[in-house]
Amino acid sequence: MTNQVTEKVLDSLYRVVVPLPRNPLKEVNCYVLAEDDRFLVIDTGMNRPECREVLTAGLDEIGVDLGKTDFLATHLHADHHGLIPDLLRPGRTASMGAIDAAAMGRAHGGWSEDSPMGVYLRRSGFPPEELAESFKRHPGARFSGSRHIDYAPLDEGDVIDIAGYRLEVIDTPGHTFGHISLYDRAKRLFIAGDHILGDITPNIQAWADDHDPLGLYLDSIAKVEALDVDLCLPGHRSLIHDFKGRCRELREHHEVRGQEVVDILRANGGRNAYETASEMTWDIRAKSWEDFPIMQRWFATGEAIAHLRWLEDLGELQREDAGERILYSA
Ligand SMILES: [Zn+2]
Repeated sequence: MTNQVTEKVLDSLYRVVVPLPRNPLKEVNCYVLAEDDRFLVIDTGMNRPECREVLTAGLDEIGVDLGKTDFLATHLHADHHGLIPDLLRPGRTASMGAIDAAAMGRAHGGWSEDSPMGVYLRRSGFPPEELAESFKRHPGARFSGSRHIDYAPLDEGDVIDIAGYRLEVIDTPGHTFGHISLYDRAKRLFIAGDHILGDITPNIQAWADDHDPLGLYLDSIAKVEALDVDLCLPGHRSLIHDFKGRCRELREHHEVRGQEVVDILRANGGRNAYETASEMTWDIRAKSWEDFPIMQRWFATGEAIAHLRWLEDLGELQREDAGERILYSA
C-alpha cells in the first residue's frame, strides 16, 4: 500500500478511512485524537484483514502508540468496534454507550435462526429457507471482535478531555439503542457515528414489537438538530458542514418513506414486512427485489419493520397478528 491513508481534519484530530470490501457502506471513518502521551481511537472497522491493514498503517502514520491508546465505539455494529479487542493493550480502556456496552456482554451465541431475532424475521415474512444462510453471512456474526472484552459504559453528560478537545457524550438512540455521539461545544464539533450521515441515510432497523427505533431515531435527530455545529464527523463517507440542513433532510426522508409505506398498504393491505420492503424504493443496483443479495433484503426488511412499527404507533396502520405472520394494513 503506497497511498497515504490518514487525513488531518483539525489540530490533533485525524481521520483514517478504512475500506469495507463488498459492503455497500464502502468504508468506515475512524477518528484519532492525539496528544503527546495519550491517544483515543473512535471506531475501528471490522475484524477482517482488509480493515486491520489500513487502520494499523494509518495509526502508524500518526505515530500512535497502542500502549497509550484508549478506544471508543459509537455503537455496537461490527464495522465500528471489530478491531478493538485485537488492538486494545492491557491497562487501556475501551468504551461504548452504556446500553450497547451491556448488549455486547450478552451478544455471544445470539446469532441463530432460533434467536428472538430469527423468530421475528420469520413472522415478518423473511423466507425461512434463507434464514440460516443470512445469520451466517451477517457482518455482526462474521466480523465482530476476536475475543470478548468488557466495554466501559458511557452515559449522557460524561466528558472525555483529550488533545485540547472536550467531548461530551450525547445519547442518540435509534440506529442502535445505545448509540452515542460526541459534542465539543466550544469547537462546534460533532462526532456522529452512524446517527448523522451525509451521502447515505443511516439504516434504522427493528427486530421486535416492543420497540420503535425509528421514533427514537427521529427524537434523537430533533435532540441534536438545535446544537451549534460547524463540522460533523460521520461514521461513513464525507464530512458534513451543513449539519442542521442534513438533520432536516434525514427527518424529511423518513416522512417520505413513511408515506410510501402507507401508500403501499393502502393499495394492498394485509402485507407482511418482507412484502412491504419488496415494494419500497431502494437505492441499490439490482434489477428487481429477487436480485437483491440476501443481506440487502435482510436490512431492507429491518428498515421496513422500523417504518411499520413507527406508523403503527402513530395510528396510521393496523396490525393483524395472523398466527405465524404479522400483517399490516392502512
Ligand atoms: Zn452502524
